[in-house]
Amino acid sequence: MSVSAVPTLPAVAEPLPVLGSDVRVPLVTGGEVGYAALDYGASAPALRRVWDDVAAYAPYYGSVHRGAGYLSQLSTELFENSRAEVGRFLGCRPADQVVFTRSTTDSLNLLAGVLPSGTRVFVFESEHHAALLPWERRADVEVTYLTAPRSRREAVEVLERALAGREPHGPALVCVTGASNVTGELWPVRELAAAAHAHGARIVLDAAQLAPHHPVDIAELDVDWVAFSGHKLYAPFGAGVLAGRADWLRAAEPYLAGGGASRTVARGADGRVSVVWHEGTARHEAGSPNVIGAYAIAAACRALTEAGFERLVAREQRLLSALRAGLAEVPGVKVLSLFGEDAPRVGVLSFVVEGWNSSHLAAALSAEYGIGVRDGLFCAHPLVRTLLGTDGRAPGECGAPEGEREQAPLNAVRVSFGAGT
Ligand code: PLP
Repeated sequence: MSVSAVPTLPAVAEPLPVLGSDVRVPLVTGGEVGYAALDYGASAPALRRVWDDVAAYAPYYGSVHRGAGYLSQLSTELFENSRAEVGRFLGCRPADQVVFTRSTTDSLNLLAGVLPSGTRVFVFESEHHAALLPWERRADVEVTYLTAPRSRREAVEVLERALAGREPHGPALVCVTGASNVTGELWPVRELAAAAHAHGARIVLDAAQLAPHHPVDIAELDVDWVAFSGHKLYAPFGAGVLAGRADWLRAAEPYLAGGGASRTVARGADGRVSVVWHEGTARHEAGSPNVIGAYAIAAACRALTEAGFERLVAREQRLLSALRAGLAEVPGVKVLSLFGEDAPRVGVLSFVVEGWNSSHLAAALSAEYGIGVRDGLFCAHPLVRTLLGTDGRAPGECGAPEGEREQAPLNAVRVSFGAGT
């Protein structure tokens, strides 16, 4: 091979500046140390660019869609521009809608609320609870839980089999994650989408962990909806996104009833109130919208696009390799994996150490080294139990009281990082 034929490796980016990178924390052993934020999977620090953009806009803040004044008009324009920018970031098709929500959890609950009656939902038991739980709340929807696959290929096969077994008519929805919040492993989204569509089902992508690490292109992946959270995308201002096909959103009752979602409201002769709801995105954005949250997400989309995902991914993969190599040298460490060693993954990794309580380990990393990680079951109890081989006696998680977490017989430590690391 001639020198000119050697492929050029993507340049390794510098970490993007984030808030909090200069924070120092006290150690129990005395002294202090620079804080190592390695819990991006739970919530990532704000990009400095996002913070600066929000600060520049904040003095001009005004009500959205509700005011005649200049600042209201400006805020409305920025809010709608943010929607368009997020749509471009996600590669939305012309007929897609971008609805601003509070988070991924909120987005998936919104989608659950708009499913046509009788929809069959297919979801892997290994999903984050935000993707696992919203569907059963609908009494008129039937949920099929799919066994956690042990390879990417098996994921597609399991879905194919389940879909082939359903009645060929009637609406169906598949819900899958793009990247696991426990193992960091990438799911074969394109193949799963093709399988869903081949069987007449739609598919929603939980991109909470994927979007901060990889470009998510709704058209290229050929998914029907994408959900993600601003606070995991370096924009921690309380907003999230549900983007995708408009038809089910348009046909359903609004997520919340109130101003903004309603076009006209009148008191009828029968004494009742009749409402005509908006058809566009406003239908599911009742109440005063979180314009700063939406603006911050758009700012994050801009910053990540300008930095270039290719460079960010290259950097993250080097860090991941170093982490894995380091852990491999520690006796008794087991890295959790569903798909095996070679599966592609993002900068999210969970492990246990034989003979160690993971909560104590995480507490020690913080107290003795200033390293902030997470311990527990990561709001994916069925998955972590499968990976740990436990019998379901696992402790509470997702806000469980400290005491309860302390008694944890089995849980794991998670290290997660990203563009600011
Ligand atoms: N999906 C995945 C894969 C996640 O990791 C998370 C959060 O950790 C969620 C959904 C829920 O996100 P949020 O808490 O922002 O609603």
